[in-house]
Amino acid sequence: MVRQFTGSAASVREKFEDVLVRVGEAALGAGRDPAAVEVLVATKYVDVDHLGVLAEAGVRLIGENRAQDLVAKQERYGEVFTYDFIGHLQSRKTKVVLPLVRLIHSVSSLSVVKEIEARADGPVDVLLEVNVGGEESKSGVPLEGVDAFLEQAAAYEKVVFGGLMCMPPLFDDPEAARPFFARTRALAERLSEDWRGRYTFARLSMGTSADYEAAVREGATIVRVGSVLF
Ligand SMILES: *Cc1c(COP(=O)(O)O)cnc(C)c1O
Repeated sequence: MVRQFTGSAASVREKFEDVLVRVGEAALGAGRDPAAVEVLVATKYVDVDHLGVLAEAGVRLIGENRAQDLVAKQERYGEVFTYDFIGHLQSRKTKVVLPLVRLIHSVSSLSVVKEIEARADGPVDVLLEVNVGGEESKSGVPLEGVDAFLEQAAAYEKVVFGGLMCMPPLFDDPEAARPFFARTRALAERLSEDWRGRYTFARLSMGTSADYEAAVREGATIVRVGSVLF
């Protein structure tokens, strides 16, 4: 169980604004538009009663890891937030998650692709999660399996891949994660070519509290931060 946050809006606001400043500086330093990077707050640390504190602190885009937490938070806060799903998704939970979220970051199994196809009314924007470090403990499609995965997933027309999500190995030095972010970006560029007319891999969901500035320097369009705020 993740330790739950019980702090104040003022403390979150200060840390959140610091993240926004750092993201902006990292983007500018890399010759990128800071407005092209969204800061998503991972809310697995925040129970439903405390989530209002995040709204007070100026947070609008949140990411949930568990379907039942997403349901509870969405019921309570509705349009206060935009909700993404960032956790491991079980295919049987797909129908619950689908109507509540803007974007699922963590599609990496054909069973989830099939569920989306069966449940959705129209096109659904998703990200393909890749296991960029090839770690056994991590979810995501291994890099060498991405092409075969997409060949199969392409049969399901409502599922529209709009980018990649990754979670590289954790290092003490955030710079050590940069090659993994660069590899993910290079893969997205190649896939955008290969799937031109069908998918654009324009979104890159990468970087956490440990390494979000490095991720922005390598092209992240969504960073997912949690512990740095709590
Ligand atoms: C918790 C979580 C994050 C945020 O990680 P922190 O180290 O708390 O910033 C990002 N992505 C996913 C998928 C997570 O589960």
